[in-house]
Amino acid sequence: MSAATRGLRVVVVGGGVIGLACADELVRAGHDVTVCDPRPACGSTYAAAGMLAPGGEAWFGEEALLRLGIDSLERWPAFAASLEQRSGHHLDLRSTGTMLVAADRDDLAEVHRACRLLNASGVRVEELDGRTLRAAEPVISGRVVGGAVLPDDRHVNPRRVTDALLAVLGDRVVRARATPESDGVVLDGGSHLRADVVVLATGATGIPHVRPVRGEVVRVRCRQAPIRVLRARVHGERVYVVPRAHGELLIGATEEEHPVGEGDPLPTLGAVGRLVETARALVPGLATAELLEVVARDRPGSPDNGPLLGPVSGTGSARLLIAGGFHRGGVLLAPITAATVRAHVDGLRVPPATQAFDPNRFDSHTARDSDTDRNEEPCA
Ligand SMILES: Cc1cc2nc3c(=O)[nH]c(=O)nc-3n(C[C@H](O)[C@H](O)[C@H](O)COP(=O)(O)OP(=O)(O)OC[C@H]3O[C@@H](n4cnc5c(N)ncnc54)[C@H](O)[C@@H]3O)c2cc1C
Repeated sequence: MSAATRGLRVVVVGGGVIGLACADELVRAGHDVTVCDPRPACGSTYAAAGMLAPGGEAWFGEEALLRLGIDSLERWPAFAASLEQRSGHHLDLRSTGTMLVAADRDDLAEVHRACRLLNASGVRVEELDGRTLRAAEPVISGRVVGGAVLPDDRHVNPRRVTDALLAVLGDRVVRARATPESDGVVLDGGSHLRADVVVLATGATGIPHVRPVRGEVVRVRCRQAPIRVLRARVHGERVYVVPRAHGELLIGATEEEHPVGEGDPLPTLGAVGRLVETARALVPGLATAELLEVVARDRPGSPDNGPLLGPVSGTGSARLLIAGGFHRGGVLLAPITAATVRAHVDGLRVPPATQAFDPNRFDSHTARDSDTDRNEEPCA
């Protein structure tokens, strides 16, 4: 960090996993940081399964996103170790990998396609027949026909991550909604915070080109837990089961486009019912699981599923950086995002994997009115 960039006043608008991780990184770099959020850690991050799985999420045409995810995954052990050591919180980071599971031949064809892409991208993947798969994860139904293991994927409990970040940030987090201005932000109630840099990390609202993509998850406690994350296709329906501490499992997730409504989105019986039915076809022992929680939140979707990450031009004295549109991968991408935002603030070299995710890349396209003019509502 040069003398010119030391101790800048930075306001981070939005205290989800992205805003909090950026704030922590900037504090550690010596900046004077304030995070504004009326309900920190209650947005999309609150529902996230915490899969750190660039391989499990990979798809054709999204190779740059896969490279970004692989880079961020490599940063997770150091990110978690530092945060655990400074906060005293245990994040439940696990390195047990992902198992892709197919219930019929068509499902298996999809798994084969994904494996071809992963092989071509240098991701370690081992294809397995149904018997080998069940030997490795006996809780899986005897009806599955095959799948694959991605040994390098990890997972973490995102609520523990945000609890730890909130603990280390302490009173730098202000419980207020903020609106960026030319020289800082204005808080609800009218007070003004001046800043040299504003980082906009408001999740599914308030960032141009970002739209809400509803996701629902079910949290249960079950004696029959897999060791790995299971990501399955069951007769065309997708489902995942993520093991957590104390016998808890997270079952997810639905994916539907919805307009932004009042307060937190509510789960629907039909969508959750389908999800649970699919999960039970994969892990029959879930029939006796105890239901702990059903949650719906809006993922911050972007037109190409990749994040918007970096500076945007403005007219005021405060520099504006966007960290948004993380869609299904914001937890995975938190460490590389924090490093990238810090690099922009301090004038350092940004990680090369982020260069495809310039926030201005959609500006030549016609911006949808609903993206930019959406009426924001508080999280609750
Ligand atoms: C069901 C589901 C499962 C998921 N599973 C995974 C997974 O396994 N792995 C993974 O990597 N990702 C997963 N995701 C995606 C992940 O949750 C998101 O990409 C990530 O949480 C985005 O973080 P964020 O900080 O950008 O947004 P959010 O967590 O939504 O945080 C945005 C914050 O901004 C605040 N805010 C909004 N407007 C303002 C304002 N004007 N002023 C102040 N504050 C404001 C909100 O209160 C909120 O706290 C999942 C998402 C869902 C919904």
